[in-house]
Order: sequence, then C-alpha cells, then structure tokens
Amino acid sequence: MKKKYAESTKFIHSGRDRKFTLGSVNSVIQRASSLVFDSLADKKYATINRTQGALFYGRRGTLTHFALQDLMMEIEGGEGCYLYSCGAAAVSNAILSFVQAGDHVLMTGAAYEPTQDFCNQVLKKLQVDTTYYDPLIGEKIASLVQPNTKVLFLEAPSSLTMEVPDIPTIVKTVRNINPEIVIMIDNTWAAGVLFNALEYDIDISIQAGTKYLVGHSDVMIGTAVANKRCWAQLREHSYLMGQTVSADCAYMTSRGIRTLDIRLKQHQEKSIEVARWLVEQPEVKAVYHPALPSCPGHEFFKRDFKGASGLFSFELHQKLNQAQLERFMNHFELFSMAYSWGGFESLILYNQPEEIARIRPNIQRKLTGTLIRVHIGLEDTQDLINDLKAGFERLQD
Ligand SMILES: *Cc1c(COP(=O)(O)O)cnc(C)c1O
Repeated sequence: MKKKYAESTKFIHSGRDRKFTLGSVNSVIQRASSLVFDSLADKKYATINRTQGALFYGRRGTLTHFALQDLMMEIEGGEGCYLYSCGAAAVSNAILSFVQAGDHVLMTGAAYEPTQDFCNQVLKKLQVDTTYYDPLIGEKIASLVQPNTKVLFLEAPSSLTMEVPDIPTIVKTVRNINPEIVIMIDNTWAAGVLFNALEYDIDISIQAGTKYLVGHSDVMIGTAVANKRCWAQLREHSYLMGQTVSADCAYMTSRGIRTLDIRLKQHQEKSIEVARWLVEQPEVKAVYHPALPSCPGHEFFKRDFKGASGLFSFELHQKLNQAQLERFMNHFELFSMAYSWGGFESLILYNQPEEIARIRPNIQRKLTGTLIRVHIGLEDTQDLINDLKAGFERLQD
C-alpha cells in the first residue's frame, strides 16, 4: 500500500497483504509460541530475518502481529511498530528503552496519571530524574533542558484538563539545544492519525490502542511507532523486557481499525455538538474541548490537528459536595461511569479541583469547580444531551 491513497482507504486496505490473509479478507489468527522450521536452512533464514517479518518465535510475533504492525506503519508512518500488552506498557517501555542511570526526562506535568507515577516511582528508583513542564510552556522549555536530558515526553491534548501544547515550538526548541534527545508523544487522543506525530519531527508516537484503535472496550493493547533513528533500539529493548501481545488481541485491533475513520468522524461531530450545548448551560463555567476556543491551546489544535475525537471535559462553576455528586453521577441512563474511553459508548467521570492540582506538578493553571470528563460515544446526540440535562436538573433538587 503506497502513499497515493487517502487515509480512509489505508484503514481499509493496509495490513491485508495476501501473506497475512492467505486469501480471506482479514488476517489469519496465528496463535503460536513455537514456529516450526523444516530444515536448518529455514532456521537460519528465520534467525537472520527475525526482525523483518520472518516467522521465528512467538514472542517476535506471528502473521497476525505482522499484519497489524504493517497497518500501523501505513497509517502513522515510521520504520516500525512495537506492540505491547497495554498503553501503560507502551509508555514505560518506550522510556526505559532510551534511559540509563543519571539521565533526565522532561515530562509534561499534565500527563496521564500512571505515566507520572511511573516516573516518580520506577524511573526514580533507577536514578533517572524527571522534570515536569507546563504543557503551555512553549519555547520557555529551553530553560528546562539539561546536559543529561535524554527524553522529551509530550501528551496532546493533556489528560483530563485537555491543554493542547504548541508541539512544533517545543520540539524545535529542544532539538536546537540537543538533536539527540528522543522525543515521544502519547498520541492516544488523536488515535495516531488526527495528529501525525512523526511528521512533526517526533521520534516515537505511542498509543493506548485500548482506546480508539480497538474501539469496542474489550481489548487492551499498546502501540509505539518509531522513526528510523529510534526503531532498532525501541524494538530490541522492548523485546528484551519481554513485551509481547496475543495474536487474538492483535487481530481485534486490526479489526477495530477498519472502522476507525468513520468512528472518529462521528465521535468528532457528536462531541462538538454536545460541547456546544454545554457552553450554553448556566452550571458550566468552561468547556475544554480542543475544537472550542475555550480550550487552552485551541489555536495550536486548529493549526496542527486534522480533527477532534470524542473525549473532553468541562468545569462547573461549583465544586459539588458529596450529596450533589451522588445525585449528579449516579443516575445517568446512557453515560456509564468507567475508566478508559475510545469505545462506541459514552462515559463520564469527575475530578475535584484539589485532585487535579495534586496531579499537575509545575502547572500554573488552577481549576476551582468540579471537572467532569465525558467520552462521547456513537449514540444519538440529542439522547446524550437529554441525559446530561437530566443530570443538571438533579443538581437543582
Ligand atoms: C488509557 C491511557 C493510557 C494507558 O492505556 P492502558 O491500555 O489502559 O494501559 C495511556 N495514556 C493515555 C492518554 C490513556 O488515556
């Protein structure tokens, strides 16, 4: 599959080479630990080509994994794609593949909370220091780069608070100081396709494939697509740390990606509609949807992203007390309360401002009201609005 095709066509046709499908439409599910060699010559060939798609041993992958890796490279670009058991494994292994004791990591202070915990607990134990930066820092990131800085880690938009960083400025500033620094992004919100990380001089684009790639809330997987400079080291170090994923999970991910284009368009359209309705509600102080001007960094979103997905948050004027929270949160009919997101269904969670402050090291922006995060699924928009409306009415009681 070559570049001449549009993205939506690639979602359908990539990773379906006949060698992966053996004549069916989808890739085969090849479950294997052992892969059998018919001769010493075959074994030698497999050993030499084990990182180039030859069947060698289950941990290196089977045809099902190769099909998904091929598909991911077609849609995100890059030299290779490593598959992990979940998004958190993709984040931690990508970082661990490039740091050693005495190194320094520049991490967004608005990162997904387990990513911060990994830095504070695991990297700290390995004598790797972390400095958290404000995602809206722009070129001032220059003052935080140290001689031992090895990794710059971005996430766009931020988890929960949704700030969109000025990625090209941050990347350019850091590259100008030290071109060797490995730049990674947690690109889950954009499903790796609404923001083309590798085209912005980022080395590694990481996703919790658990979210939009899978799209049906029933599989956990992580992906990391790397450019030529970083691929071999990411691949070998992740492999040595024992990272692998089942053929069934890989298959379900490829299957999910077939409908990614149409799902993302619907998530975008519906989430913007709900966000615009929320702007009008008297209980709502501000809506943090990257496609709306009220989201910090909206101008960077408009410039750098091809579109929005379905996850955003809004802040209430009030900090809800326990009784209000229970009245508001416990009775939605369509919005389920659950972690994760990116599936076909709508979800809702809340965070109090002091909880947000605790997981926002070195960040200026402070919230005062309760923050509600919603994932807008593929239900009818008016039905979702009515469900939220009933929630606001319960606050009046
Ligand atoms: C969910 C999530 C992860 C972790 O993915 P898992 O598959 O749950 O391990 C990482 N980063 C972001 C931004 C996420 O939302």
